[in-house]
Amino acid sequence: MKALLIYPDYPDTFWGFRSALKLVDKKASEPPLGLLTVAALLPADWDLKLIDIKVDALDDSDIQGADLVFISAMSIQKDSAKDVIARCRRLGVKTVAGGPLFTTCPEDFPEVDHLVLGEAEITLAPFLEDLANGAALHIYRTDRRPAIRRSPLPRYDLIDIHQYATMDLQYSRGCPFDCEFCDITSLFGHKVRTKSTSQVLRELQNFYAMGWRGTVFFVDDNFIGDKVRLKQDILPAIIEFMKARDYPFGLSTQLSINLADDPELMQLMREAGFAGVFVGIETPHEGSLAECGKVQNEGRDLLDSVARIQKAGLEVKAGFIIGFDSDPNTIFEQISQFIAASGIVTAMVGLLNAPRGTRLYQRLSREGRLRQEATGDNTDCSLNFVPKMNPSTLISGYKQVLKSIYSAGPYYDRVGSFLKKFTKAGPRRRLGRIQRKDVIGLFRSIYTLGLRGNSRRQYWRLFFETLFLRPQLFSLAMTYAVYGHHFRSVYREHL
Ligand code: SF4
Repeated sequence: MKALLIYPDYPDTFWGFRSALKLVDKKASEPPLGLLTVAALLPADWDLKLIDIKVDALDDSDIQGADLVFISAMSIQKDSAKDVIARCRRLGVKTVAGGPLFTTCPEDFPEVDHLVLGEAEITLAPFLEDLANGAALHIYRTDRRPAIRRSPLPRYDLIDIHQYATMDLQYSRGCPFDCEFCDITSLFGHKVRTKSTSQVLRELQNFYAMGWRGTVFFVDDNFIGDKVRLKQDILPAIIEFMKARDYPFGLSTQLSINLADDPELMQLMREAGFAGVFVGIETPHEGSLAECGKVQNEGRDLLDSVARIQKAGLEVKAGFIIGFDSDPNTIFEQISQFIAASGIVTAMVGLLNAPRGTRLYQRLSREGRLRQEATGDNTDCSLNFVPKMNPSTLISGYKQVLKSIYSAGPYYDRVGSFLKKFTKAGPRRRLGRIQRKDVIGLFRSIYTLGLRGNSRRQYWRLFFETLFLRPQLFSLAMTYAVYGHHFRSVYREHL
């Protein structure tokens, strides 16, 4: 059996980092981990080829050369997924689709031959069995959650890892919390399921053996969902692994703000090589936190929590949401001021949207306020429901926030003040080895931002200040300059 696995394209979003990727000679920010895992679950004697459309062009001959095409996608990839499916139908090749997009709205894809929904560790095997017997059904689904300790090593050998900015590793699925706007719990449940220590080490060793020296992103929904296991098993094992190999990777992940309450956990993460964490702060307005059920953020001094994590030597990146029913008219200034005061450089501020599968979607549907499907890009200024606030006030206020945090002046100021704090915190960040691609990236950034950009003055100030005062953070400073270029280009498009 010849199977072609296709990862559809996606538009330029906050997370796509397209403008930044060009400068560092990468084609995509993250590899298609779901498809790589599915590939590992397919029969060993199948002939597999994977095309990530962000990285390689998809030719008709690729489709025609396959017996079966597998597609996995998120909602942001819907248009491209539809296009791929239509091409397969036109060329007479059967399709198999799975992943979050298809699992949350299978009824939107009657044209797919086989929908294999939910977690592939459960639904793929019966599909393959039926396929072998010539009796594959249109749809396979389950409400059960597999123990991911049986999940295989993702088939990273199917892609050119050097085309990506990070490598992805999933240690756990599920989140104990229940935020109203989030579809993670409907997809993966509240019970946190984890891989074994040896699975995690095997995946890290695989990256090492493949020659990867860069960022490894733990894509878990909430990395600290099971703190006890992390502290007792996983982090000590990662520390040993990283020390023995002289810290070949910089680690990052996403997690909840209650990390700030656990100094021991922060210390272990730092020792393991974690340099940054993404935290869902959502909003500094208590009423809105209560409305969306973000209990872990309620009743705490959020600025202080962020400062504690930063002080432990972990950079905080954060997500914010505007558009809750409880948001006051002052929410725009509140969020801008919070971001400026926190020193969070990478702040993703989005408009509230209600994706299918969320409690928010159900509530708004009951209240008759849903208008359309969410686009999957919460920074594109679209709303899929009728907000309580006047929509034009909401959208223009939102645009003001984007301008206030990503215009070159305030952005570079934030970078400068963060780097000062970060130096004082005495991080254990390693300088890392300078590779050819780093030098090329630096020259590209000098050309694009230092010689041709609109914020040349700020760029050169950051360049020389960091080079002379904090040389150990020079590479981080240049990364921020490149990120800022990307954020400004995304927001300019939306504004
Ligand atoms: S903490 Fe994060 S992953 Fe968990 S339910 Fe809330 S938004 Fe979703």
